[in-house]
Amino acid sequence: MAVRSPASEAASATPQQEIARLAELRAVHHALGHLHQQEMEFRRWQMELANVPAPPFGEAARSKWLQQRFISLGLHDVQTDELGNVFGLLLAERQPTFVAVSAHLDTVFPQGTPIGSREEGNKLYGPGISDNAAGVTAMLAVASALQQAQLRPTTNIVFIGNVGEEGEGNLRGMRHIFADPFWGQAISRLLVIDGAGADTYVTQALGSKRFEVVVRGPGGHSWSDFGVPNPIVLLCRALAAFSQAELPELPRTTFNIGVIQGGTSVNSIPESASARVDLRSASREELEKLEQRLREAFSSAREFADARITVEVHGIGDRPAGLLPADAPILQVIRAVDAHLGIKSVPRLASTDANIPISLGKEAITIGSGGDGGGAHTLREWFDCTYRDLGLKRILLALLTLTGVQE
Ligand SMILES: [Zn+2]
Repeated sequence: MAVRSPASEAASATPQQEIARLAELRAVHHALGHLHQQEMEFRRWQMELANVPAPPFGEAARSKWLQQRFISLGLHDVQTDELGNVFGLLLAERQPTFVAVSAHLDTVFPQGTPIGSREEGNKLYGPGISDNAAGVTAMLAVASALQQAQLRPTTNIVFIGNVGEEGEGNLRGMRHIFADPFWGQAISRLLVIDGAGADTYVTQALGSKRFEVVVRGPGGHSWSDFGVPNPIVLLCRALAAFSQAELPELPRTTFNIGVIQGGTSVNSIPESASARVDLRSASREELEKLEQRLREAFSSAREFADARITVEVHGIGDRPAGLLPADAPILQVIRAVDAHLGIKSVPRLASTDANIPISLGKEAITIGSGGDGGGAHTLREWFDCTYRDLGLKRILLALLTLTGVQE
């Protein structure tokens, strides 16, 4: 058995030549065929998976479902960690280096949301059917194709169904994996499969920071205690000052004051007032600057009051920003695969699980699972399975180019 390493090939062939060579291998050919032929099976998995509820912080049943699937596909060392992230390995070598493929398990829908996904022709309907039942299905489809074709990569592969991508989940699943002493070191590159489509790739990790600001004071009667510092006035003064912040257009940087609360009645000086603020940027420096602006606005507003006023700024969300370097091999590979498959793809800026590794200086890229989808995060969500196999082929070829193949 000749073992070729992707590194030694890179010296002699362009990624596109390497992909063309891989696609000609009999086993790869077989795997690509499997992705096309097994569409009905993939549909069944997708419907079954979407019918297992997975609200934020309530993914356990879905983790269990995936664990069973990984086992029946014959992946090695199938395990679920304490958060509910599920791992299944395809081992090639002893050294602990892995290319990872991940898809998030969680949905935005709270416990008790009626799911009942249904099928009409080539279209599937149901909450979470595309985001991210399609992504998890694509990961399973690729794992099953590798197994079916008895393809052995040169580098180890870990398939991961992770928790906590959506909203308040705040990327906790991926954060936990990259904070783990073993996985944080072992994963060299990560392909994230999220949602539908095959014509985009995310190269810029949109970062966000969210804060709750609480202003407290002694409160009192509107007439007899007049003059006591008023938390609502202070909060408004600080927010008005903050909202004057000048923001760059490139990298695009934004803020939103989304919630404001405080006070009890028109004739009481309030004891507290609070606001929730969302800051976003693709640049970590700009995010930090904007956070600094917010904190300064509150400390200067604080100077108008006396010691009876307190201001607290609590972080309630943090998704790190980052940019995949233009010469990153994982990016070259996706572009070369797209050229090989005749896909005209475009780069995107988004907040995904890839934010975590990118912010740590690792290579990660988010792509879709093929087909088409819409109505994400609504009860009317749909996924169109037509041409799903193009997206699956894209994932398989990208993965094998990253790992190399034992021949
Ligand atoms: Zn998603």
